Amino acid sequence: MPLRAYTTLRAGGPAEAFFVARTVDDLAEVSLWAQEHDLRTTVLGWGSNVLPSDRGVPGLVVLNLARRIEVRPDGEVEADSGCGFQEVWLKTAQARLRGLEFAVGIPGTLGGALVSNAGAYRSNVAELLTAIEVVHEGARKWVEPAFMEFAYRDSILRRVDPPAVTLLRVRLRLAPGDPKAAYDEARDYQRQRIGKQPAPASAGSFFKNVYDQALADSLPDFPERFRAAGVVPSGFLIERCGLMGYRHGGAMVARRHANFLLNVAGATATDVRELADVVRALVADKFGALLEEEVLYLGSWPPWPPR
Ligand SMILES: Cc1cc2nc3c(=O)[nH]c(=O)nc-3n(C[C@H](O)[C@H](O)[C@H](O)COP(=O)(O)OP(=O)(O)OC[C@H]3O[C@@H](n4cnc5c(N)ncnc54)[C@H](O)[C@@H]3O)c2cc1C
Repeated sequence: MPLRAYTTLRAGGPAEAFFVARTVDDLAEVSLWAQEHDLRTTVLGWGSNVLPSDRGVPGLVVLNLARRIEVRPDGEVEADSGCGFQEVWLKTAQARLRGLEFAVGIPGTLGGALVSNAGAYRSNVAELLTAIEVVHEGARKWVEPAFMEFAYRDSILRRVDPPAVTLLRVRLRLAPGDPKAAYDEARDYQRQRIGKQPAPASAGSFFKNVYDQALADSLPDFPERFRAAGVVPSGFLIERCGLMGYRHGGAMVARRHANFLLNVAGATATDVRELADVVRALVADKFGALLEEEVLYLGSWPPWPPR
């Protein structure tokens, strides 16, 4: 089963074994079974933040289609991890709740959002969580958000050799608020995205932004709001390296937003990763800054960088 069809970058090789979980109980059962048999499991949401190797992904890949959501008027929300992040926003906005406006325009599932602590416009999903149901160490249980060790676009599930954890359901607490203000804010965010995001196929921002006050202070013609926050958008650095429109195989640095790597002509996963290497090397050379991927590499890659 080639995984390229299940990723927004449209690249990547086959899963060794593939299972579709349509309910949260399916997802829990298959995860418990896999943990019991020591079978490596990769849960896939919308594939909007991953690059699976052309060689494929060993073990079991589970496509998460569990999408039940319950929104209570007091602001408590319980949603399956396979719910679309934007769908959760829409359902909560319809229930006159506020807090998830930033999710508009972030593709992917709630589970994927938790893994990378997805966010935008100075907000992130971790801020709204109260509990998470997981399969971990062979048991199905609710855990505190602290279990995930959230940080900027990071959690315990992004570490090298992460623990075997399947996210099943999520509880969020939102605040009641004026729906018109919520829709206006969401529309404004969406408008900003339409203005700057290139057409598919991409995985959104490929690299994380760089938090480095000294670097921010050293850059000429650098916007004051970023300097004050001590953060340098990776796209700024990539653009200053003159890489917009640069092509490698079927992959290209977007002309519209330098931190988007695009699949423009049947790129392999290797094309995309090699392009990322070129970008990282040039940015390190010119600015001394080390870019770290926001996108996750999945599966069995050869020793990297290849010799
Ligand atoms: C056009 C575009 C714009 C984007 N804009 C933003 C943005 O503004 N901010 C932002 O933060 N991100 C952004 N992204 C990145 C991406 O959409 C988010 O990271 C999203 O939350 C990923 O969700 P997903 O379901 O696609 O996860 P996937 O890509 O399917 O998975 C990501 C990782 O999470 C793991 N995973 C997924 N579900 C589970 C689960 N239930 N249990 C355990 N592990 C799981 C996967 O194994 C994988 O390691 C953008 C992407 C695109 C294509």
